Amino acid sequence: MKIAMIGTGYVGLVSGVCFSDFGHEVVCVDKNPEKIEMLLKGEVPIYEPGLDALLAKNVEAGRLSFSTDLKSAVAGADAVFIAVGTPTRRGDGHADLTYVMAAAEEIANALTGYAVIVTKSTVPVGTNRQVKQTIRKANPNAEFDVASNPEFLREGAAIDDFMRPDRVVVGTTSEKAEAVMGEIYRPLFLREFPILYTDLETAEMIKYAANAFLATKITFINEIARLCEKTGADIKQVSRGMGLDGRIGNKFLHAGPGYGGSCFPKDTAALARIGQDYSCPMEIVETVIKVNDDIKRRMIEKVVDLCGGSVNGKTIAVFGVTFKPNTDDMREAPALTIVPALVGGGAKVRVVDPQGQREGEALLPGVQWVDDAYKAAAKADCVVILTEWNEFRALDLKKLAKKMETPRMADLRNIYSDKDAKQAGFEAYVGVGR
Ligand code: NAD
Repeated sequence: MKIAMIGTGYVGLVSGVCFSDFGHEVVCVDKNPEKIEMLLKGEVPIYEPGLDALLAKNVEAGRLSFSTDLKSAVAGADAVFIAVGTPTRRGDGHADLTYVMAAAEEIANALTGYAVIVTKSTVPVGTNRQVKQTIRKANPNAEFDVASNPEFLREGAAIDDFMRPDRVVVGTTSEKAEAVMGEIYRPLFLREFPILYTDLETAEMIKYAANAFLATKITFINEIARLCEKTGADIKQVSRGMGLDGRIGNKFLHAGPGYGGSCFPKDTAALARIGQDYSCPMEIVETVIKVNDDIKRRMIEKVVDLCGGSVNGKTIAVFGVTFKPNTDDMREAPALTIVPALVGGGAKVRVVDPQGQREGEALLPGVQWVDDAYKAAAKADCVVILTEWNEFRALDLKKLAKKMETPRMADLRNIYSDKDAKQAGFEAYVGVGR
């Protein structure tokens, strides 16, 4: 199959690379020339484990290429994927469909024969029908069908998620489009990963419902964590005790500083708005959004309390600022709420993150970037663990405590315990929910 991937960001690039690895001929298009220039030189603009090698392999095999020229990429393609951003529209919670519709119009004018236009971006219910109308209006003679193919990959584990998905969802009402999509995903079907065919609206809804459910699960355990702090229960054991129940499952049950990232915040906001638009309020989701905001703010209080009621004049070492490990993505990371509050409170903040600096520098003004956890902790008054990168999971706590002015730790990912910290010489330790 010949595939054009419009939008070469976290989703478009991973999907394009993986489709080419399936054996398809893929052109990844982006309107950002710097991104394409990097890719043409074999450089990967994002940090995603394993992506550079897979990309190089498929470029070498002649199946994968990059371009800013949408027109020639779309000409002759069997399927054109739209994988552009759908950020929150400024001022309200709606998904901003400007990029999707602009891409649809450009695609319409570039079509040379029958193609399936597939929306991979996360879009509100009804958007694929709008995409269809936009294309029809821009090019009344175009031969095409639309399909919704929401993406479920997780940054940091994106290749494995794409190659070994729990399921692939394809929404379409056209048999011809279904056949093309079936052919594209054939390698997964042969390995018995389920492909679920639905109508357009159902596929669109599955994506929002899945993300809102996961955000709810995280927020639920974070709220229970708060109650654990009041009652003396230990959230780690509560999570384990809950997660062993097969009906609940152990994933997304780790208490922490609140969810962030490029998807959950914007997708919960968008679902809440969809509910309001249809006079069908999504009350659980609306509450989740509010509770998650409160949780992030509560983390600031934890650090301030640990520092004796004020961070003014204190040196604080922050370990990890990306919204989760194994990505350089800083979008909506809890660090963007917590770190500026510490800086604003008068703290001198040192940050160490294996991949976060490139994105984080502009987003976190007034902090000092350091390349090593022990250097960051030198003469510091407090260490705050915000993202559980592997390199922060096995720190030599004794060495760390010795380097600090006043050894105190806010472990917002519950990597260590009060006992570990005290034994290593920390005078104070606080986790989440214990
Ligand atoms: P991103 O911002 O990393 O990438 C989007 C890219 O599209 C950018 O490089 C941008 O320059 C390009 N672009 C925009 N308009 C274009 C046009 N007309 N022609 C060519 N290129 C264009 O976004 P992302 O994180 O990859 O997310 C894309 C979509 O996938 C969103 O709807 C998101 O909700 C969804 N999604 C993201 C993830 C994730 O983990 N990031 C997971 C599942 C779904």
